[in-house]
Amino acid sequence: LQTRLPAVGYTVFSLMSALASEHGAVNLGQGFPDFPCEPALLDHVDAAMRAGHNQYPMMTGVPALRDAIAAKIAALYGAQYNPASEITVTAGATQALTTAILCCVHPGDEVIVIEPAYDSYLPAITLAGGVPVPVAMELGEQGYTVPWDQVAAAVTPRTRLIVINTPHNPTGAILRAPDLHALGGIVRGSDILILSDEVYEHMVYDGVRHESVCRYPELAERSFVVSSFGKTYHVTGWKIGYVAAPASLMAEFRKVHQYNVFSVNTPMQHGLATYMADPAPYRDLPAFYQRKRDLFRDGLKGSRFTLLPADGTYFQCVKYEAISPILESDFAQWLTTEIKVAAIPVSAFYSQGRESGIVRFCFAKKDETLRLALERLARL
Ligand code: PMP
Ligand code: GLN
Repeated sequence: LQTRLPAVGYTVFSLMSALASEHGAVNLGQGFPDFPCEPALLDHVDAAMRAGHNQYPMMTGVPALRDAIAAKIAALYGAQYNPASEITVTAGATQALTTAILCCVHPGDEVIVIEPAYDSYLPAITLAGGVPVPVAMELGEQGYTVPWDQVAAAVTPRTRLIVINTPHNPTGAILRAPDLHALGGIVRGSDILILSDEVYEHMVYDGVRHESVCRYPELAERSFVVSSFGKTYHVTGWKIGYVAAPASLMAEFRKVHQYNVFSVNTPMQHGLATYMADPAPYRDLPAFYQRKRDLFRDGLKGSRFTLLPADGTYFQCVKYEAISPILESDFAQWLTTEIKVAAIPVSAFYSQGRESGIVRFCFAKKDETLRLALERLARL
């Protein structure tokens, strides 16, 4: 069979998690919590199952959940999305991203992707027949930033879509108001669409607010905005997310969605809908993860790792040049097999495998897990 994805193997997350378990390493590689979700969330899902919510839901998602999502977006970002025509529940953010790309990218269309980039964007663009146009973030004193002049220079008459991600995986960088204004300046007067991956929307630290594209009407009117319950409620294995977009874009999204998955499992949607009535879990998330971030950073302060800023997400990137000159994937492998702490090489997030001597750790872990990892890392 001639492959449709010649540049692709198994994801770095699957590979590193397998290596971590083979070598009994503390897994700070793949991003997922090693602690349980709130028991109350399970009670809501259990109640939904027992109430008989076990058959196909509406293709677009359970109405109560779409209502809850629209209410949350309105409360947090002041944007009005009609739950009937502008919100769709998806099988995780991954499906939302792929479906959004498939519904609007035609063969030969160019898609600007800011690198390092989450690994699912490029294969989805390739499957759509699109041409990925990577623009690399710059790493300076204040961490990673997007060079908007280079994004502007990458725009051509074939540009169909720009993919952004804030808070950003893997760097932990966040976009700020001037970034959104710069993006607005680039797309103004064009028919370029935006795909905004905001799965870490509730993980922004130090009192800074999340700059959702939903806050910017000029951007929101041309954007698919994606989020994921897996991140917010510590249930990455549930694979439920959603997309919000203006009705005209959503109509096209749903045409593809209905033949990707048709619909997403019913009881979890009902459980999430009633659980979401309480804003406390996502309101308290920044404080919860900021404490873990600080615990992890403090533990590495005396080590030979150089900490990069970590303004959002549950990832901490570190430079390891003082420890070793080897390639990132070799270093991550060595950390996993010899030091028994798994990490992800940031080079895996670049189409051309750019090397910066940086690996990513996930701090969405129990304190005891972080302490065990720190004991091993701080000795290096
Ligand atoms: N986008 C980014 C930036 C992510 O980090 C992840 C999760 N690893 C996803 C999308 C996918 O989310 P989900 O698990 O809900 O498919
Ligand atoms: N988003 C998670 C990460 O970046 C992993 C998701 C996956 O395993 N595909 O680590």
